[in-house]
Amino acid sequence: MSQYIYADNAATTKLDNDAFEAMKPFLLNEYGNASALYSIAREPKKALKWAREVIASCIGAQPEEIFFTAGGTESDNWAIKGIATNGAVKVPTIVSKIEHHAVLRSCEFLEYIGYPVAYLSVDSEGFVCPESLKSIISPATKLVSIMLANNEIGTIEPITELAKIAHHAGSLFHTDAVQAVGHIHVDVNELGVDMLSASAHKFNGPKGVGFLFIKKETQIISYASGGSQESHMRAGTENVAGIVGMATALRKSVEAIDTETARLKELTHAFYSRLDASKLEYRINGSIENRLPGNINISFRGQSGEALLHRLDLKGICISTGSACNSQETEISHVIRAIDVSQYYAEGTVRITFGKENTVEESIRVAEELVKAIC
Ligand code: PLP
Repeated sequence: MSQYIYADNAATTKLDNDAFEAMKPFLLNEYGNASALYSIAREPKKALKWAREVIASCIGAQPEEIFFTAGGTESDNWAIKGIATNGAVKVPTIVSKIEHHAVLRSCEFLEYIGYPVAYLSVDSEGFVCPESLKSIISPATKLVSIMLANNEIGTIEPITELAKIAHHAGSLFHTDAVQAVGHIHVDVNELGVDMLSASAHKFNGPKGVGFLFIKKETQIISYASGGSQESHMRAGTENVAGIVGMATALRKSVEAIDTETARLKELTHAFYSRLDASKLEYRINGSIENRLPGNINISFRGQSGEALLHRLDLKGICISTGSACNSQETEISHVIRAIDVSQYYAEGTVRITFGKENTVEESIRVAEELVKAIC
C-alpha cells in the first residue's frame, strides 16, 4: 500500500522499527525454547527476564507481577473468569456497559454458567459514576472490572476512585488498560488496581502478544493448563520474539508520552479547525477533558458512518465507525448507545484515531475528505 493515511490507531498500530529489530534475533538465530536447560536456551531466557523487568518498570509493577499472554483479549478473559471461578461460591462481578467485548463476552460466559454480573451505566460523556458503583457493590462482590480508557470514545475513567470503592467493599479491581498503556501515564500503584490488561499491538508492538499484571497474592486460577511457564499460571511456550518486541515498543512509547501527547493535541486541533471551517454540524462523543490523545469520535446528523468510511477508503484514508450496517438496519455500537446519542446522530458516527506516524497535514486532509464526503 502506498500513499494512504492510516487513522485507525485504536484498532492497531504499525510495528515500531526498533521493536522489529529487537525481535529479529529471536525469530532467526536465538530460537531455543526458553524452558530448555541447554545453552541455546540461555539468550531467550535472559530476554524474557529483561522484558519482564522493562514492562514492570513501565507500569510501576514488580517483574514477578507481569504475566505474558497472547494479547488484550486473553488478559481480559483471564482476569474476569480467573477471579470469579476461583472458588465454590457463585460470586457476583461488576463491569461497566462500555467495556470491550473481551470483557463483556467473558461476563456473558459467567452468566451462562450461573454467575451473577451487574452492568454499570455511564453518563453522557462515558464516565462511570463512583456513586453508582457504591450503590450496587456488596460484600459478596468478588471483582469489579472497569476499563482505564474506552476504545471508541477515548474517555479516561476515574480508576483510582473506583478501585478504592471496590477495595472498601472487599472486592478486587481489574482494569482493561489496552488503549491506555503506552499512551498515557499508567502506574498500577497510583491506580490501586489488582489486575491490569495490556496489548502490544496498541503501542506499536507486534500483534498476538500482551500481558496481565497480577498484584502479588491475588487469588486467581491459572489461565491454561500444561507446562510450568509463567510461574505455572499460563502454560505454553513463550513467544519470545513477540515479548521482546512488546517490551522494546512499550519502553519507547512510555519515554515519548509527553511529546506525543502534545503532538497529537496539535493534530486533533488542526482536524477540528478544518472541520469547523466547513460549518458542518457534528457532535463530539466522549469526554473533552479526560480523553486519550489522538482520539476523535464524532457523529454527523443524518449520515451513515459506514458510508463515510467507504468514501474515505476510496481516497486512501482508513478510519472506523461507531456502527455497522447489516442488510436490515444499522447496528449502533454498545458504547454509542450507552452514552445516549440520538439515532440520527448515532448512525453517522466515525472514529478517527491518530498515532505516532500521523502528521498535521494528514489530519487536515482527513478533515477535508470527510467534509467532501458529507457535502
Ligand atoms: N480491550 C480493549 C479496550 C481493546 O481496545 C482491545 C482491542 O481492540 C482489546 C481489549 C483486545 O485486545 P487484543 O486485540 O490484543 O486481543
